[in-house]
Amino acid sequence: LAKGSGKNTFRFYEPHMNEEAVRRQQLQSGLRAALGNGELRVHYQPKFDLRSGRLTGSEALVRWHHPVWGPVPPSRFIPVAEDFGLIGVLGRWVRDTACAQLVAWQQAGMAPGHAAVNVSARELHDPAFEEGLVQTLRETGIAPERLQLEITEGVLLQDTDAALAKLCRVRDSGVGLAIDDFGTGYSSLSYLRRLPVDTIKIDQSFVRAIGADAAGAAIVRAVIGLGQSLGRRIVAEGVEESDQLDFLRRQDCDEAQGYWFSAPLPAAEYASRYG
Ligand code: C2E
Ligand code: MG
Ligand code: MG
Ligand code: MG
Repeated sequence: LAKGSGKNTFRFYEPHMNEEAVRRQQLQSGLRAALGNGELRVHYQPKFDLRSGRLTGSEALVRWHHPVWGPVPPSRFIPVAEDFGLIGVLGRWVRDTACAQLVAWQQAGMAPGHAAVNVSARELHDPAFEEGLVQTLRETGIAPERLQLEITEGVLLQDTDAALAKLCRVRDSGVGLAIDDFGTGYSSLSYLRRLPVDTIKIDQSFVRAIGADAAGAAIVRAVIGLGQSLGRRIVAEGVEESDQLDFLRRQDCDEAQGYWFSAPLPAAEYASRYG
């Protein structure tokens, strides 16, 4: 709010702010209901090894279809879930669902690889997170190595030492760790030294920039080189064009996902295409 410009400025912005607050309240109560009534789903987006062309696994992405509002994007409701204390329950549900799905696919004779799930910083900082993770592994029977958690650099903005210790314990349990949206967060390079991750996901904004300008291509090339020297696996996300894929292959990028291969799919469709 423009402080120096007096009360009128505040009043000018007030209706808009109320509208947003009301919308967030509606999303919150809608989401609370959705967590119990089957409106939430998990979609799976395949990931591929760029050398062999083989499927390596899938990223689980939550979907919400509200009966009146229609599809609500995660970019809209994940922040609400975080702010209203629902992210723990939501994240747990997504992990339980994705792990149970992976085990079901294995039992059906598929080779589904690993399941990657997103964990928001708020969730990771929750003291109940680790116990929940142990329960998910135990209850679904998934091998820890088949689960990968995608975190963002933001997890280290707060309680850095505690967060690092927690991530080390998670990694030591066998569960994989990836930095998501790499390059868009804060202090990428200093955190990269300390984060116990085995995988780096290049943010889609850089992948999109590959063909756009020389700087885009240079950044992607540099991140791949960095990952190689640090012994991390590099995944490019948001690959939409064959030119991007060719470039990533030439740079010896390990893995890729994106619309060029497939959009995130409902479980049944995923199984029929990749089973
Ligand atoms: P993310 O983890 O970086 O996921 C990748 C996003 O890019 C997904 O959007 C995916 O549908 C989209 N995408 C995949 N391929 C392409 C492509 O080729 N082009 C473009 N333009 N987009 C592509 P989505 O599903 O809308 O999710 C957005 C973000 O919401 C995710 O970004 C993640 O940060 C968050 N999110 C989604 N599901 C969960 C969840 O279960 N838990 C948490 N904590 N966050 C989630
Ligand atoms: Mg992700
Ligand atoms: Mg990402
Ligand atoms: Mg993201």
